Formats: sequence, structure tokens, C-alpha cells
Amino acid sequence: MTTAPATAGRERRTSDVVVIGAGPAGLMAARTAKAQGLSVTVLEARRRVGGRTWNGLVEGADGKDHFIEIGGQWISPDQTRLISLVEELGLPTFSRFRDGRNVYVDPRGERHVYDGLDFPVAEKTDREMDRLIAKIDELTAEIDAAAPWEHPRAAELDTISFRHWLEQESDDPEAIDNVSIYIASGMLTKPSHTFSMLQALLMAASAGSFRNLVDEDFILDKRVEGGMQSVSLTMAAELGDDVVLGQPVRTLRWAEPDPSTADEKNGVAADVRNGVAHDGAAGDVVALTDDYEVHARYAVLAVPPNLYSRISFEPPMPREQQIAHQHISMGLVIKVHAVYETPFWREEGLSGTCFGGGRLVQEIYDNTNRGENLAGGAPGEEDPHGTLVGFVSDVYAEQMWALPEEERKAAILGAMAEYLGPRTLEPIAFFLSDMAAEEWTRGAYATSYDLGGLSRWGHLQNRPTGPIHYACSDIAAEGYQHVDGAIRMGEAAALAIAEREATDAGQPTG
Ligand SMILES: Cc1cc2nc3c(=O)[nH]c(=O)nc-3n(C[C@H](O)[C@H](O)[C@H](O)COP(=O)(O)OP(=O)(O)OC[C@H]3O[C@@H](n4cnc5c(N)ncnc54)[C@H](O)[C@@H]3O)c2cc1C
Repeated sequence: MTTAPATAGRERRTSDVVVIGAGPAGLMAARTAKAQGLSVTVLEARRRVGGRTWNGLVEGADGKDHFIEIGGQWISPDQTRLISLVEELGLPTFSRFRDGRNVYVDPRGERHVYDGLDFPVAEKTDREMDRLIAKIDELTAEIDAAAPWEHPRAAELDTISFRHWLEQESDDPEAIDNVSIYIASGMLTKPSHTFSMLQALLMAASAGSFRNLVDEDFILDKRVEGGMQSVSLTMAAELGDDVVLGQPVRTLRWAEPDPSTADEKNGVAADVRNGVAHDGAAGDVVALTDDYEVHARYAVLAVPPNLYSRISFEPPMPREQQIAHQHISMGLVIKVHAVYETPFWREEGLSGTCFGGGRLVQEIYDNTNRGENLAGGAPGEEDPHGTLVGFVSDVYAEQMWALPEEERKAAILGAMAEYLGPRTLEPIAFFLSDMAAEEWTRGAYATSYDLGGLSRWGHLQNRPTGPIHYACSDIAAEGYQHVDGAIRMGEAAALAIAEREATDAGQPTG
């Protein structure tokens, strides 16, 4: 890996493929392209790889550093491409701690301890939740996660917000809050009235079914010992000097302007408003950073779609992309890490799993570390300290960031104590993941379309633009918004390029 020199002149590099972004998608694209015999340069804005996966540390009151996963961490059993990659890279995994009873806090603020997956709600609400989940799953089964816009009712399902769809179906607010948690605050991290039913169905279809999202033992199953960023760190180590850090791509030259679009009368220069012929084929690409100028035949744009507009495309992107990209935005969530001397909740027979639809902290899990990580530890051994992870989503996240630091901490710990009692108030270390403040992410967990955007623009998201191919978890089908989706998209983009090369050279792909 090269950390770029801070020189004024640009160093020239040439490769078959320039990959923009060294998150899991970009690194997988580079790894796959290399395995197909193509040369690559990966340009990464940050001074680290991994993007939204990030192995971190927090200092405790005990003076020791404790390991935290600032970004993405969990793997579910359906995420088979990530699972096989983790195995191939030789990274050990472990299961989330889930022994014991769970805690539910109802809309009146009453605390209930329960077993199994079903919230301890009134029988009527329980039946209503089951009915809503079954109905969502009937629709989910009709959705192709790779092309939700092709559903015969796509436009109609894209005009109604998830919240309004639930309210049309049910008059039980507790059932609505508890069902919406799994997609709104739990996944897209936007209020349920801001995205469509079609977007909600894509989220469910990408995980196999809505029922899979409801099942925390499924969706939050395993973690990588030492942290999920290790997947990217290991791929980057294999790629060596092909990865250049600290180099945001500022400009991407990608096509010849079409002279017929010039408008001399109004002083408009020629551009490519109508696109170019042969999307996906090789072209002349130049990626410019502050210190590098990379010449390539293909680009893989492996950054979240909300950041496409941070790059100056020369000529500008065709009009349909310029419009489409404005309808995609990041969600907002705070991942809360609280470290304790011991996992005290286990002494009370509790798993650490807590839910409360509509509350400040809506989900909590036991996130105690296992294995060797940045803070030490030994392979396979559990950290004696207990860690809780909680989530503060969308409007609550906005409210919390508006508070002074100590008030924010007190409010969040107070909300966590509603589930697990007064000992929750006294962590030895406390950390809030703040991906929205990160220039090269700007939100969490991922992006989604505004109302009506998916049916109108979704079909463009994976279609190459000239020699530019796209790869990111946020435009994935299976594994949408997850590391698995990033890996799948990176691999697919590189294979599409290799196939194109082979077709153009008249050879079969290897
Ligand atoms: C708090 C949090 C918790 C999450 N939890 C989970 C989880 O438990 N399980 C799970 O599977 N997923 C989870 N995710 C989502 C997961 O982390 C992402 O889906 C995944 O990291 C996406 O990978 P990517 O490569 O597509 O994009 P990213 O990881 O965002 O990588 C994109 C890279 O592009 C770089 N970049 C951006 N602009 C430029 C530019 N102009 N030039 C050069 N480089 C640029 C960025 O710096 C970044 O490194 C979570 C995310 C967050 C934020």
C-alpha cells in the first residue's frame, strides 16, 4: 500500500482499471480484476481502507484501550459471498452472545422480560404483527431484489410511504411501530414516512424475506474476530502498492464530448447529455487526485451514490444520471458503544438483546469482543469486559447530535438503562460512531431512494456509463446495504469488465 506523497506535481500511473474507493466493494473489484489478469490502481480518499467498516479503540476510565467496531460488523447466514471470502482470507468468526432472556419496553414505558423472538405484547397486537409481517412477505416474494422496478405494481408501491402503507393496513400503533423498526430505524435509518413501500420490499427481498429481518438471531449472527475491517485490510495487503491512500478522486475524465450537443448561440460547450455508445466498453479514463493522475481503460466507481457528485466528471455525466443521483441519500444512525467491567446483564440471566419500537434507543445487543484485536486479546477467547451496542436512529440521532456532549451521553445511557437497569449508567468507556461527520461517507448505514425514486431511476444504478462501472453495497440486490452486497457488487463489476475484455478480444473468460 502506498501513502501518497504530499507533492504539488502529479505522479502518472497507468493500469487497465482504476478503482475509486477502497471499501469492501472497491477492494473486491480490484482483487477480482487482478485475478482476471487486469492491472489495477485503487485510489482511496481516506488514509485507511475499509470505508464504512472500521476497527477502532476507545480509552476507558481504567486507562486501557478497548476494541470497538465503529462501522459494519455482523454477518447473517444468507450472506454467502461474504462468508466464503472471510473463510478464504483465513479470518476467524464468532457468534453473537444471545443466551438468556430478552427485554422489551412497551410504548407506555413498561419493561417486560421475555424468551424467544416474539415481543411480549397483547395478543391482539401479536396477531396484528404476524398478519402485517405475512402480508409484507407475500409482496416480498414477488420482488426481484436485482430489479424491483420491474414489479408490475412498482410505480404504485413506490408512491406510498412504508408508514402510510402500514397505517392503511392496521389501526394498531404498537404493531405498526414494532413492524416498522425492522426496516425504518433498523435498516434504512430514515423515518418510515420518507421512503416507499417498494424500497421497504427491496430491503426485505435483499435479505431473503422480511421474516429474516425480524429474526435478530439470523440477521445479527456472526462477527469477525478482530473486526470486519480486517476483510478490507487483508485484501489491501494482498494488493500492496496497487492501493494508494489519502487520494480523493477529484476529477474523472471519461468520454469525448459529442459535438452535436454544442449550442453556440447560448454559449453551451459540447457534452455527453445523451450518453455514449457502448456503455461498459473500454475507453480513455483519467482519474485525477491531488498527487496522482491515473490513466486506465475502465473505472470502477466504488463509493456510495451520495458521493458521486463530489467528483467532477469531464464531460459531465449524462442528464439521466445527473438527475437520478439526486434522489439517493444516506440514512442517519448513531451506533452507541458502552464498555463495562463485566457483562453484568448476564448475571441476571439476560442476553443483552433489547427492543422498544419508537424509543430513543430502539435496539441493544451484547457486543462483547472475542479473539485478537487492536486492544489485545487471544484467538478464540472472550474479552472479560462486557460491551453493549445500541442504536439511535434518524430523528432521534438528529436530536442527540444537537445536545452538548454530557447531556447527550446522559440521555442515551438513560434510555439504555430503561432496558437493563441502573448499572447501565456507569460504563468504563463510551463511544458514539459518527459516520455522518465523515466527509467520505456522510451518513449511516447506507443510501436509499426518496419516495418514487426507486421505480423511476433504479434501473440506471448498475448500468455502466461509458467505461465507468458501479460497485457499492448501496446498489446491491442480495446483501443490499451490507458488506456482503459490497463484495458481490465489487466482484460483479470486475467480472463484467473481464468479460467485456474477453468478448472484445474474441476470447472466453477464465
Ligand atoms: C455504523 C454502521 C454499522 C453498520 N453495520 C453493518 C453490519 O453490521 N453488517 C453489514 O454487513 N453492514 C453494516 N454496515 C454497512 C456496511 O459497512 C457497508 O454496506 C459497506 O461498508 C459498504 O461497502 P462499500 O465498499 O460499498 O462502501 P464504503 O464502505 O462506504 O467504501 C467506500 C470508500 O470510498 C471512499 N471514497 C469516497 N469518495 C471517494 C473519492 N472521491 N475518491 C476516493 N475514494 C473515495 C471512502 O473513503 C470509502 O473508503 C454498517 C455501516 C455503518 C456506517
